[in-house]
Amino acid sequence: MSYKAEYIWIDGTEPTHQLRSKTKIVNDAAEPPIWGFDGSSTNQATGDKSDCVLQPVFVCPDPVRGGDAKLVMCEVLWTDMTPHPTNTRRKCVEMSEKFADQEPWFGIEQEYTFLKDNWPLGWPSRGFPGPQGPYYCGVGSDEVYGREIVEAHLDACMEAGLGISGINAEVMMGQWEFQIGPLSPLQVSDQLWVARWLLYRIAEEFDVSATLDPKPIGGDWNGAGAHTNFSTNAMRESYDAVIGAAEALGTRAEEHIKNYGPGVERRLTGMHETAPWTEYTYGVSNRGASVRIPWQVEIDKKGYIEDRRPNANMDPYVVTSLIVETCCSALAK
Ligand code: ADP
Ligand code: MN
Ligand code: MN
Ligand code: MN
Repeated sequence: MSYKAEYIWIDGTEPTHQLRSKTKIVNDAAEPPIWGFDGSSTNQATGDKSDCVLQPVFVCPDPVRGGDAKLVMCEVLWTDMTPHPTNTRRKCVEMSEKFADQEPWFGIEQEYTFLKDNWPLGWPSRGFPGPQGPYYCGVGSDEVYGREIVEAHLDACMEAGLGISGINAEVMMGQWEFQIGPLSPLQVSDQLWVARWLLYRIAEEFDVSATLDPKPIGGDWNGAGAHTNFSTNAMRESYDAVIGAAEALGTRAEEHIKNYGPGVERRLTGMHETAPWTEYTYGVSNRGASVRIPWQVEIDKKGYIEDRRPNANMDPYVVTSLIVETCCSALAK
């Protein structure tokens, strides 16, 4: 029996790369093969040399189609099989191999906002709801909107076998979060991209869109981040290593901020549970710091740190490779 394989890849849209996908019918029990696409339609090639290559890197069951259908996350290559400039996964492979002995793990908190007619779901048309306060982890139809989509997405992630670890309603009405991990840098990143694709795809069924815009509404409304929780085997054993990682991030703060998602300065204002993007700070339980050490980690004297700076629209391949590079090279000393 042939099956439907949905090939998913990251395009060249600026400033924020977007997901694309198309379907291939694959024969019998074969693995999804290498495939191609028109790079001139995705900002990845010119019309005269338009062919780009899709190299499958992560395959899982497709919970939308069910049966034998599969989702196929891909890397983009040139036709000579070298990585395309938009292919940020290659550096993640390199960093993962270089620091494999430190066994880095990541848990990523993906925040996002549902939009209906280009305005947050549940908000009065072109108007504003009551101020923030009751919406975070709220219950009741006056406080949370889109729960049926969120539940369908959670089920889909579980059926796909992704390492999803939770969901919650967020501080701004119409905003939600799901978490993927803890997993290795490549696993968490491949799976986060697939989970994002599933979110967009499932919201389609409800005629709603989801956006990773880091600050969908200006003013006194929370932005959307992707808090990135990180540990190594040493950090999972010793508090010195936890502090060492937090200190290491301070030595390359500017380089990190630049790579934490377009528009990061719009979100990291110093208000709404953020630290200003121009300063680097870390602290126990501090949600106004760049990096938080969870209270339980201080009690246990081991565990992980939370980098609160990455935007919702960050590329997890980029963010996890940078954190591994910075923290693992410092901890190796
Ligand atoms: P918050 O309190 O900031 O909202 P969440 O519960 O949303 O935190 O997310 C915490 C994330 O950290 C989860 O994805 C969890 O799996 C992950 N995590 C837990 N332990 C570790 C660890 N040792 N290393 C990396 N990530 C971890
Ligand atoms: Mn969270
Ligand atoms: Mn959150
Ligand atoms: Mn968090």
